[in-house]
Amino acid sequence: MSNQYVQVAVPVPMRQLFTYQVPVAMQTPAIRIGERVAVSFGSRQVIAVVISHSDQSDIDSKKIKPISKRLNDSFHLHTVLVDFLRLCANYYHHPIGDVFQQALPKLLRQVKKIDVQPPMVWHSQAKEGDEQASKLTSKAPKQQALFALIAKHQGISWPELRTLGYNKTQLNALVAKNLVVEKAQKSKDFTWHEQAFNEDNQQRLSTEQAVIVAAINQANDRFACHLIDGITGSGKTEVYLQAMERVLKNSQQVLVIVPEIGLTPQTLLRFEQRFNVPICLHHSNLNDSERLDTWLNAQQSSAAIIIGTRSAIFSPLHHLGMIIVDEEHDSSLKQQDSFRYHGRDLAILRAKQLGIPVLLGSATPSFESLQNAMSGKYQYHQLRKRAGNSNKAKISLIDVAQQQMEYGLSGTLKQQIKQTLARGEQVLIFLNRRGYAPAINCQECHWIADCQRCDKPYTFHQKQQLLICHHCGSQKRVPKQCPSCGSVRIAPVGQGTEQLEQRIGEIFPQVSLVRIDRDSTRKKGELSKLLQEISDKKHQLLIGTQMLAKGHHFPDVTLVAVLDGDGALFSFDFRASEQMAQLLVQVAGRAGRASKPGQVLVQTNYPDHPLLQEIVNNGYQHFAKQALLERQQALLPPFSFQALIRAEANFPSYPEKFLRALTEQTLHQCEFAGPVPAAMEKKAGKFRYHLIIQAKSRKHLHIAITQLLSQIPDNEWQSKVRWSLDIDPIDLNW
Ligand code: ADP
Ligand code: ZN
Ligand code: ZN
Repeated sequence: MSNQYVQVAVPVPMRQLFTYQVPVAMQTPAIRIGERVAVSFGSRQVIAVVISHSDQSDIDSKKIKPISKRLNDSFHLHTVLVDFLRLCANYYHHPIGDVFQQALPKLLRQVKKIDVQPPMVWHSQAKEGDEQASKLTSKAPKQQALFALIAKHQGISWPELRTLGYNKTQLNALVAKNLVVEKAQKSKDFTWHEQAFNEDNQQRLSTEQAVIVAAINQANDRFACHLIDGITGSGKTEVYLQAMERVLKNSQQVLVIVPEIGLTPQTLLRFEQRFNVPICLHHSNLNDSERLDTWLNAQQSSAAIIIGTRSAIFSPLHHLGMIIVDEEHDSSLKQQDSFRYHGRDLAILRAKQLGIPVLLGSATPSFESLQNAMSGKYQYHQLRKRAGNSNKAKISLIDVAQQQMEYGLSGTLKQQIKQTLARGEQVLIFLNRRGYAPAINCQECHWIADCQRCDKPYTFHQKQQLLICHHCGSQKRVPKQCPSCGSVRIAPVGQGTEQLEQRIGEIFPQVSLVRIDRDSTRKKGELSKLLQEISDKKHQLLIGTQMLAKGHHFPDVTLVAVLDGDGALFSFDFRASEQMAQLLVQVAGRAGRASKPGQVLVQTNYPDHPLLQEIVNNGYQHFAKQALLERQQALLPPFSFQALIRAEANFPSYPEKFLRALTEQTLHQCEFAGPVPAAMEKKAGKFRYHLIIQAKSRKHLHIAITQLLSQIPDNEWQSKVRWSLDIDPIDLNW
């Protein structure tokens, strides 16, 4: 048995494995790959994961420390998952210990033994026809819906119910009526293929949809990447659901990755309604023990479907048969700090490793995926019609240069809002700027209140009477007097959602309005409550940031207004136009989903701008083809591959010198761009610089990065800066 030494991944920011000895007393039972062990590292005890073991070591055996403990519990990582995580670390050139760290729930990263109780789940005690149960109908529709859900699932957890928008009061009411009871979950075996699928609420597929499902089914047992490019409401989710069926009937598991789970309770509900199988949710609103439960459910195969945000890609699913990435273009699928991975790209990597299909869906596919689809690397499927009988919303531009404006609303727009409200339909007003005003200034000398740590204006939040920096979070009271000239004429400039809400309330005093942004939905459960109120038609006017542009179904919204369509027209970031087009089309997708026709009005100062014209007249696909041609000519991604090295320090010269020293190396088939100051050159008191490394092939980029990283220990500036590496960066602003 090669049991004497282990190579382990230790949670430290170093790109290497560490070797430890296994004391004789700990050598039986044989040590396994993927096992967690406690080791001392420096002065700390940490949890490490065994990556390999051997009987020999090149290192002097006296220098090798012994492991402190084996955590002989049932939570070891299977070899396939260990291999996947190693692939991830390689691809992103990220410290392997940190990759493992991020893949494990927090409770499994602690040295102390965890006491695992089986997760508690809810069951119904009464049949739906019972007297108590039937009384629910008229008086408490929410309670009734909750009861029906529990009765159907027989074993649904509280975090899941909470995510679906139910609260403890409703649940307790059912407990008081003796209708439901909480029990420990029994570990399930693989039985869900025998369970009934709810074919009663399954739609008859359109020909377009049926062709896609057939194509997916045809290659169900090997790797294939399918891009489903379909406008909002064209029936992509229905395609996922029917494609999953075959996988589930095969007793395999399905992983569904979504950008943000709290934003899509309706979609979750559709999965719940369709499949009578255990579903687990994985997202950032779970506490540590809920997170561990989800992990265990995946690992012990008691979850058939896992729906989660990007980090769900690391779920220990041993019978994974399909991965679905919804809204694959969404930038929140990419983690923007420490381990900068893209959930979609890792989904493809994992599917390839396992030899299973992966489905990417979007109304506005990323240029990367479109290019792969056009070149034939992915199977490309299009859904061009809305399902059912609803029509696509029409986008039109309003030239605000020609109009009298009131609080950011043009006359034309006000008129349209009034007419829509008069028909009893809902209006969505989109403004991608939260807070009351993006700045305050002195009306005499034009002094602007800037955050000293970022050199950017503070955002004014009226309700809290605070200036808040949206870049570093620092807060400050509004000064009574101008610090520069002493004047008391200090006033907000520009408009954010908080102000818009107030002003629109003045213009349309009769209607009920609701604001949805990060500030108004901070409280747990608040977002799903507000969304429910919207679908119950308690509000006629909806004001929101990009939070409202994602994935919701608002069948009664027939007018979507974009107050400021100019945001990204003149950005230096070559991705800005792609992102703006996606946002416009996504917001437009919110309108007119039911049988009522919808329209989208975009206010702009540049109605002739080619980008806006392209989107309005020819649609996203056409726009994307044009823009891809431009990228090809400029040799930008996806026609080249990039890595970005960011460096920051208290003095501007350090990061610049650090990066400049890197550029002194000669790279094969690669080019440097930079170093240059970041778009936000200063943030939270630190000066920031960029260096881009670009190559025509991924292989060359990979080799170049390996070379650069190996040189960094000799870089004389390296101890003076904080630096990080981003492979396939999508945000060049920082
Ligand atoms: P997407 O995911 O592309 O936004 P959905 O799958 O949510 O689209 O479909 C939009 C609406 O159309 C949903 O209400 C869905 O139930 C309905 N729908 C989807 N496919 C069909 C179909 N084949 N026949 C009738 N209705 C459908
Ligand atoms: Zn002043
Ligand atoms: Zn700041």
